[in-house]
Amino acid sequence: MTNLDILAIAAHRDDVEQTCGGTLLKMAELGHRTGILDLTQGEMGTRGTAEDRAREAEQAAKTLGVSWRQALDIPDGRVENTWENRLKVAHVIRQTRPRVVILPYWKGRHPDHYIASKLGYEACFLAGLAKLDIERGLSAHSAFSQIASAVASVVAREDQKQTALAPHRPFKIVYATLYYDIRPTFVVDITQQFDTRFEALMAYKSQFSDQEAGKDIFPARDEIRARIEGMARFYGMLAGVTYAEPFLQKEVGLVEDLTAIPVKSI
Ligand SMILES: [Zn+2]
Repeated sequence: MTNLDILAIAAHRDDVEQTCGGTLLKMAELGHRTGILDLTQGEMGTRGTAEDRAREAEQAAKTLGVSWRQALDIPDGRVENTWENRLKVAHVIRQTRPRVVILPYWKGRHPDHYIASKLGYEACFLAGLAKLDIERGLSAHSAFSQIASAVASVVAREDQKQTALAPHRPFKIVYATLYYDIRPTFVVDITQQFDTRFEALMAYKSQFSDQEAGKDIFPARDEIRARIEGMARFYGMLAGVTYAEPFLQKEVGLVEDLTAIPVKSI
């Protein structure tokens, strides 16, 4: 079974490591089963190939204690919120049955990121529709035969096909906001996870190692560490801890005991 407690969905391999990798590691350390769904395979990257990225993503997942990771075949640089793409993501949600889904924030510089946010949200909704036959929906689009065969191979690996494809809607959706300048509604303390999370990001050697190609857009290791540390410290400072990752939830917070609310006011 691939049942997960938490599934992080993002456009590109390494997005999750940058925006919520420390949180995923912390959740795994708490005993939760975590997973990552990358929507694309990274074939448009300036550096390295999709195969390089696949190997690096697997290594990063191991470092973060992630139980499950998969990449869809949505074109890199062309993440679109189509019916077919929503079905593909909804299929994964039924397959992995997460209680919590982490999505990218719905605004940003890179279209793949903000489109992934809406695509992910709508897929979560679709996955819960009892009468929606996702497999049939996907195979009906014969023009997308590659997708259908990719999905078929996933389904074939499932021991309990019926159970895996039952409707499922996540209980909670939270948005990782690190790529966008907005005040988070909560942060997760990753002080204990910061170093390991940085190592997970460094698994993407094709992206972050010191090299000539694309050096104007890809900072060297020391520079990326300084940036990541600066961001983590900033969000940590907001909550009175050393390092943190920012999130936003659309819902209000619910409190039982006023004396137990964390983060000092004055
Ligand atoms: Zn990205």
